[in-house]
Amino acid sequence: MKCRSCGQPAIINMRQHKLALCRAHFLDWLPAQTERFIRHYKMFTPGDKILVAVSGGKDSLSLWDMLTRLGYPADGVYISLGIDGAPGSGLHYSEESRRLTEQFALARSLRLHVVDLAASYGAGIPDLAQRTRRGHDKPCSVCGLVKRYLMNRVAREGGYTVLATGHNLDDEAAVLMQNTLTWSADYLMRQSPVLPATGSGLVRKVKPVCRVYEREMAAYALASGIEYIYDECPYAVGSNTLWYKEILNQMEEKRPGLKLQYYLGFLQAREAGLFAPAAEDAAELHTCVTCGQPTVAPGQCSFCRLWEKAPPAENG
Ligand code: SF4
Ligand code: ZN
Ligand code: ZN
Repeated sequence: MKCRSCGQPAIINMRQHKLALCRAHFLDWLPAQTERFIRHYKMFTPGDKILVAVSGGKDSLSLWDMLTRLGYPADGVYISLGIDGAPGSGLHYSEESRRLTEQFALARSLRLHVVDLAASYGAGIPDLAQRTRRGHDKPCSVCGLVKRYLMNRVAREGGYTVLATGHNLDDEAAVLMQNTLTWSADYLMRQSPVLPATGSGLVRKVKPVCRVYEREMAAYALASGIEYIYDECPYAVGSNTLWYKEILNQMEEKRPGLKLQYYLGFLQAREAGLFAPAAEDAAELHTCVTCGQPTVAPGQCSFCRLWEKAPPAENG
């Protein structure tokens, strides 16, 4: 297979785009595509103060790399969740992903904010989930809540105007499949490349690589020599999301381009107003009486309520 641009051997053949490219042309092509999506969905401009949520995985690090290449000044935020691998596996998931993220930032002189959950609040995710009895075998709902809260808080306190995440097309299509199988209108309404800021303190959220296949993100990380954590979070093993990704991959195998078509068709339907806004989206947000961050219900936000159920060892 030869590169369509220069005829040199291709490193990737993207059947869905009927396009094969060599390393150099692929490393130009993917950031150019990403730039196109940033403009198309009006995500941000170089005048914005951008914060990238980084996990140490291929998607977020590649996104950070591309934004830098494209001339968007972007800082990073990493949340250390205190997650290890299965006992005896030798995997220290959080430690290793933090090391790789810090190494990435240091090598490029990029600014990285690190929030260490255990050091700042007194417990990592597995411990917190156990102490609050919120799914100690699968702490993902606690983890999602904590990450959403802390990312918004770091963005807000740092004066960032936009928070970018590395969700790729496979992530988006898997979530979409899950939400359409249950017709979760509220979730469908909120699944968007851009979630606008609210006056009450939620920073704008964007997904610049939501139209990029996971395989393309991995190829980009490898081709640009980015060292990332290959292991999934141990709690992701056996998750619904991975299962939907497998099903979608089987379909994609037979019909190249199907995943993209599925997602773009959804975005068009959403644009056309097919899903009604959730009641809470339309409602005014309140200010948490404890931490001052935005909250849907009046009183304490869900993050503060969570920690109240599991009193931190120190730092109140
Ligand atoms: Fe958190 Fe679950 Fe994702 Fe692991 S798989 S990082 S626990 S949400
Ligand atoms: Zn080429
Ligand atoms: Zn609070």
